[in-house]
Order: sequence, then structure tokens, then C-alpha cells
Amino acid sequence: MSELNLVLLGPPGSGKGTQGERLNEDLRLPYYATGDILRAAVRDETELGRTAKGYMDAGDLVPDDVIVGVIAEALDSEAARDGFILDGFPRTTPQAEALDAKLDQLGRAVGTVLLIDVSDEEVVRRLGGRRTCVENGHVFHVEFNPPEREGVCDIDGSELITRDDDNPETIRNRLAQYHEKTEPLVGYYDQRGVLRRLDGERDPDEVAEEIRRTLATMRLEQDEDV
Ligand SMILES: [Zn+2]
Repeated sequence: MSELNLVLLGPPGSGKGTQGERLNEDLRLPYYATGDILRAAVRDETELGRTAKGYMDAGDLVPDDVIVGVIAEALDSEAARDGFILDGFPRTTPQAEALDAKLDQLGRAVGTVLLIDVSDEEVVRRLGGRRTCVENGHVFHVEFNPPEREGVCDIDGSELITRDDDNPETIRNRLAQYHEKTEPLVGYYDQRGVLRRLDGERDPDEVAEEIRRTLATMRLEQDEDV
């Protein structure tokens, strides 16, 4: 069986995390969200983890070569032998180039990039409507999952607030970053013939189903190529 090396691409609020976790369960491939593996490297005090921690402690961004190193270590592990699911990386064209170079050294390549397409309007609607309880972080949504009493957590009765991450200005900034820095990756991967576009504005179950079909079709095509 050929390996399945997947990258999830899409704006904040596109549901990449949800789909990544499902793929992780369905395909039994390790799911690497960038923030998580950086934190794990720091926690495990690997050499690169210690380097990353130095930048984080100083309040600086962790440089690309350190992030790529941490990710390459994860991808080169036994757990990722049959493939992997990357979420949140690469985020820029230089990162994508660095990832390709690293994978090439390992005799591997990004096989499929799943672009979960969601309009800015829908991102604002999804993220801007989130309300989080101050006590335990329970999450509600004014439109999709409203609490019984406005502004009050159903579970523990504590106050619901809009987190900084979910305020309109932050969302607009994150979207601007996405369009400027990450969206060029759509063209980058399209040129390499590995991009698959999915309409992310539908129900997560439907998106998951389309991902399943897309991957099944690709497998068939690959088998025919052999
Ligand atoms: Zn709560």
C-alpha cells in the first residue's frame, strides 16, 4: 500500500481540525497540528524543542527551520511510516518549500493537499458567534448552538464571553494573514498536481464524506498508474 501524506489547507474556522481528527480515526494515520507538535517537542525537551522554547520564552516567533525540523522529526517516525495528516503547516510558501526539501531527503513527498474552502463571510459568522464560558471553557454559538439563557453557560452557570481570538478585529486580521501568506499555497500545490478543493461551507459530515470519496478516487488512480 502506498503511503498517504496529507496536508489540510483552509482559513481559520474552516473545520480543518474537525476533519483532521476524523481522518486520524478513519485512516489510523497520525494527525499533527503544528501547535501541538511544537508543544510536545518542548515538553519532551528534544534538542529542537529546547531551541523552540528559547524563542517562545523570549516572545519571538519560532523560525521556519526550527519548525520544519520538529515536523520532520515527527514525520520520520515509525508512527508516520504509512502516512500523516498535517494541519497548520505549511502556512507560507517558504515553509512549503522547506517541507518539500525535507521530505525529499526522506524519499517522500506531500501526496494530497485538501483545501477546505470557506468564504470570509462564513468564517466571520462561525468564529464571531462563538461564546466561551469563563469557568470551564465550554463553547457555545449564538446561532448554531445557543445556550438556553443568553450569556450563561448551560453546564455550570458561569458567564459566557467572546474570547479575544473570536472578536471581529482579530478574525479579520487572521483572515488577512491567511489571504496574504497562506493562500499562495493553493497555487503552489495546484501546480504540483496534488491539490483537491472541497466546499467547506456544508455540514461537517458532508465534507468528511467528500474527503473520503476524494481519497478513494485518488487511490484508484494511483493504482492504475502503477
Ligand atoms: Zn461552562
